[in-house]
Amino acid sequence: MTNTTVTNTTDEILQLFSRRGEDAYYGEEVSQLEHALQAAALAEQAGAAPHVVVAALLHDIGHMLHGLPENIANEGIDGCHEDAGSLWLATRFGPEVTEPVRLHVAAKRYLCRRNPGYAAGLSPASTLSLELQGGPFSEEDAREFEQNPWFREAVMVRGWDDAAKTPGLEVPALGHYRDRISACLR
Ligand code: FE
Repeated sequence: MTNTTVTNTTDEILQLFSRRGEDAYYGEEVSQLEHALQAAALAEQAGAAPHVVVAALLHDIGHMLHGLPENIANEGIDGCHEDAGSLWLATRFGPEVTEPVRLHVAAKRYLCRRNPGYAAGLSPASTLSLELQGGPFSEEDAREFEQNPWFREAVMVRGWDDAAKTPGLEVPALGHYRDRISACLR
């Protein structure tokens, strides 16, 4: 990818956040941008690799791409934001970014099966969407998921996703991730 393309693609992502970042993260007390920045900050604090930090930052980008109302889960609709997001990202990044994004909902279903107490710790909105997303994995699905090459990254992103919901938390701004986004582009 040329430098111009890298700049354009990185700007395109930053602009998407400036256009849609103030959107509600439905049912949560943080905006889409606050949620993304907190997830990325948690990834960085954990010492995650650059592509995992970028995946954490962009894991919910699908919510900002579709034109569906934010409260679709209340209407009994699953927006499949993980698929929309990873498809959009796939023209720009490799699987090291797109797969943890695509699998972060599967990781929730997995953790509900594997970790006693995990489901009880989910926010009300996340519990509601869990049902629309298919509910906890069966034992067979959980085992299959463990074989996925991106399993660990997906579970890590999921953990930061669940924790990135603190109103008013001070975290680095979007520009802090600009170089890492550019470095991860195809
Ligand atoms: Fe999220």
